[in-house]
Amino acid sequence: MNAITPLTAAAPTFADVRRAASVLEGVARRTPVMTSRTADARTGATIFFKCENFQRMGAFKFRGAYFAIASLPAEAKARGALAFSSGNHAQGMALAGQLLGVPVTILMPKDAPAAKIEATRGYGAEVILFDRYAQDREALARQLASERGMTLIPPFDHPDILAGQGTAALELLEETGPLDMLFVCLGGGGLLSGCALAAHALSPGIAVIGVEPEAGDDGRQSFLSGQIVRIGVPKTIADGAQTAALGEITFPLIRRDVADIVTVSDAELVEAMRFFAERMKMVVEPTGCLSAAAVFNARLPVAGKRVGVIVSGGNVDLASFARLVA
Ligand SMILES: *Cc1c(COP(=O)(O)O)cnc(C)c1O
Repeated sequence: MNAITPLTAAAPTFADVRRAASVLEGVARRTPVMTSRTADARTGATIFFKCENFQRMGAFKFRGAYFAIASLPAEAKARGALAFSSGNHAQGMALAGQLLGVPVTILMPKDAPAAKIEATRGYGAEVILFDRYAQDREALARQLASERGMTLIPPFDHPDILAGQGTAALELLEETGPLDMLFVCLGGGGLLSGCALAAHALSPGIAVIGVEPEAGDDGRQSFLSGQIVRIGVPKTIADGAQTAALGEITFPLIRRDVADIVTVSDAELVEAMRFFAERMKMVVEPTGCLSAAAVFNARLPVAGKRVGVIVSGGNVDLASFARLVA
């Protein structure tokens, strides 16, 4: 049993997840819940995959970004929002800003993949490139935010981001009814803590499990030690989970609402990517495979249980996808 870790004042509740769901209604895609007889036969469980790889812009990050921008006061909306990210949060913010008519600026490292920079510009965001070896991105972000009066919206440690991400589990459970377990991909913990809020409200007694890459198990270390453990940027193909530490808001919620955090190897991620491509005909990015890989490789006993698996995203360029699954 974990000792109590005090929640921050900003910690959202299930009511905030519900509020996010009503804001996202008709805007975010209600993604499909898919099943696979092969997956069930292999694990002995009944698995429900919530396929956020089919979300707008290709990952659940759109949910939190849209809810966070939509919740800004009118004058903050007029001045715009700012984020630093080279991944799905950037694209989620860009698309949400475009839909809401709010100017969005994204700080991206100069050496980010050209395709990601282009995709972010394609959604109408202004992209400012910086040199990640010479410039401190947080200082740069703060300077831009104060010069332009923009609101900085972080990728996971923000109450509205977390509440928005939780709508993925809300939709899943509305569709499946109560589940025994829910596996969620874990980076900084926005998705995990938000989904846990929804899961406990709709399915009392459910065990919510976070899944991290083996090389970056700071979340598991933090969960077990009761203090946020910070690590160097982990080397893993799960680029959406290369976070160095859980957040000040997400960590206490994870301590309260999550039953366990487990890890999977890059080889297991590749095997899950292959499974999704071959058996379920879908493209899932490496980070999006974390939760499924934990279930497929029996990190915890699942036989005989009704198990939810959040498949978090599908943004992987075709060349990398082909190389990994070949
Ligand atoms: C960001 C991201 C994650 C991790 O989400 P957190 O809220 O940082 O834990 C997992 N999968 C994908 C595809 C992501 O983009």
